[in-house]
Amino acid sequence: MTDPSGRADSNPWSAPRVEAQGHVGQVDATVVPRFAGPSTFARLPRADEVSDLDVAVVGVPFDSGVTYRPGARFGPAHVRESSRLLRPYNPAADIEPFAALQVVDAGDIVANPFDIGAAIQHVHDGARQMLERASRLVTIGGDHTIALPLLRAMAERHGPVAVVHFDAHLDTWDTYFGADYTHGTPFRRASEEGLIDRSGSMHVGIRGPLYSTSDLSDDAELGFHIVHSREMDDIGARGVIERIQARVQERPVYVSVDIDVLDPAFAPGTGTPESGGLSSRELLAMVRGFAQLDLVGADVVEVAPAYDHAQITGIAASHVVYELVSAMAKRARGKGA
Ligand code: MN
Ligand code: MN
Repeated sequence: MTDPSGRADSNPWSAPRVEAQGHVGQVDATVVPRFAGPSTFARLPRADEVSDLDVAVVGVPFDSGVTYRPGARFGPAHVRESSRLLRPYNPAADIEPFAALQVVDAGDIVANPFDIGAAIQHVHDGARQMLERASRLVTIGGDHTIALPLLRAMAERHGPVAVVHFDAHLDTWDTYFGADYTHGTPFRRASEEGLIDRSGSMHVGIRGPLYSTSDLSDDAELGFHIVHSREMDDIGARGVIERIQARVQERPVYVSVDIDVLDPAFAPGTGTPESGGLSSRELLAMVRGFAQLDLVGADVVEVAPAYDHAQITGIAASHVVYELVSAMAKRARGKGA
């Protein structure tokens, strides 16, 4: 459009977009500066602005399952706002993810904040609906409770999926204050429900005190291998990638990233911080390794902006989402899609 001053296409609400290979991309930052206009993820189009789409980035603003600091309900808006500086070309992966695939911001799945059972059903229904349009979902939480309904939707589509779970915490506890569904239990429930492939799943970045050694033996029985945070110095990101690829192989894999897998120095804005975690650089390198795998869906959860300074955590989370989408794009490109 042309505004009264004669500047063409400068209205941020109807801004020109970077288009490549038939896909509608980001708002053109050479026309509308990055700090102007609405904050969809990476300033990508909304789902209703395109006809066909490959990847939907969707928010789940829900944090009624937390056990310590609340606030992750504001995570989706914060990660979107922190994603304005993401540019079209990813040199580390050598891919233009938004040209290789049609990626959109599909808005938020609304979940009941007062009834966790209802909220889990809402997230399940919302994810199932979105999977009717998009072949892949990348979800921004929200607390980790939402991984359970997301895995239910994934398993309906793909059967049991290999889960690679980045977190300081196991999240395979049984109950807390008598509650079966909290952000500390999604992977126990998912394993019990047969949603995960017990021969292909693992945790990465585990650290910090546990209740007892049975936490670890229970976890192993539920089908998880562990790469502990303390192993990073010995095997490095490359070594972890090799262990992930050896465990997952060609199974459909779902990646769940609790941002507290990062050290609090790299992610202060989260609800249950633990010292001794990964660096952002290590995590991004590991996520890039998923370009070799059949990555069918992902989430990035537990960003709580009230504890975030200078968008440190929001920026890290936005880059993790970008690398996840890049890995999907790279794999699709490799297969000629
Ligand atoms: Mn955690
Ligand atoms: Mn978690």
